[in-house]
Amino acid sequence: MIPAEFDYVAPASLDEAITALTDGGEDAKLLAGGHSLLPLMKLRLAAPSLLVDLRRVPDLAGVQRNGGVRIGAMTTHTAVAGADLGVVSAAAATIADQQVRNRGTIGGSLAHGDPASDLPAVVLAAEGTIVARGPGGEREIAGADFFRDYLETALAPDEVVTEVRMPESEGWSFGYRKFNRRQEDWAMVAVCALVRVQDGTCADVRIGLTNMGGTPLRASAAEDALRGQPFEASAITAAAEQAAEGTSPPADLNASADYKRHLARVLCRRALEQAAG
Ligand SMILES: Cc1cc2nc3c(=O)[nH]c(=O)nc-3n(C[C@H](O)[C@H](O)[C@H](O)COP(=O)(O)OP(=O)(O)OC[C@H]3O[C@@H](n4cnc5c(N)ncnc54)[C@H](O)[C@@H]3O)c2cc1C
Repeated sequence: MIPAEFDYVAPASLDEAITALTDGGEDAKLLAGGHSLLPLMKLRLAAPSLLVDLRRVPDLAGVQRNGGVRIGAMTTHTAVAGADLGVVSAAAATIADQQVRNRGTIGGSLAHGDPASDLPAVVLAAEGTIVARGPGGEREIAGADFFRDYLETALAPDEVVTEVRMPESEGWSFGYRKFNRRQEDWAMVAVCALVRVQDGTCADVRIGLTNMGGTPLRASAAEDALRGQPFEASAITAAAEQAAEGTSPPADLNASADYKRHLARVLCRRALEQAAG
């Protein structure tokens, strides 16, 4: 379908973009890679009156390392996948096909807030933060506070995500396991596992779940079961059995809720095994 009519601006600075967004009111929308927004517009599920294109705004793309990592909001999935950022790169590399990865951005993926997307659960599990700038200034939002509900985030309508900050990952090993029917499809379920092992014991563990509820989730029961245990096969298997505790996955055309719970347990075990090397 053809989208409803809209106005379009491509500001050359972040301040201009925020002004255009604010002046445009609730029906104004930011445009990043367009790979979530444009399909919605073509289906007429979204009909913004104004698109504020971020592609000419300088300094929003790129990766900087200084202790932790800063990933500019306009950094494409391809660039993230190639930046050697551990589990973030591993997850970005599984997103759709090369064309989507070349256009889609990390800021767009997080702001869209789709629990079936790969990067939200990774940012949640890795305890990353999202930096947003609006007319009132800049604020940093913890991943745990960012995802509110299905396609709903803590962002105000006049705020722009400028970057994603990921903490230092030295000493953590990771695994990422995504299940889909065809390679390059959305995740039926995906699991991200981060583990810090000391003297053979799991000193800390963080597990993120994709598509297991209205928002990305942490598998807290599985984390609690593994933390402090010897990091070995029996403890991994026992912890992974808890991966679907407290989740309410939506049934869809591909899978029932029960099948998704089963997938979460299996993928959690595999992601932890991958982290164990
Ligand atoms: C065929 C296909 C398959 C896909 N498969 C997958 C997949 O397997 N896994 C996956 O994770 N994703 C998948 N995607 C989605 C893809 O990753 C999108 O690119 C991504 O979700 C949105 O990023 P974008 O830059 O395209 O954002 P856009 O579509 O431009 O924007 C999405 C939303 O975020 C807002 N927004 C964008 N940037 C900002 C910002 N900086 N600050 C505030 N708000 C902002 C927009 O206003 C809009 O509401 C797929 C997309 C397609 C078309």
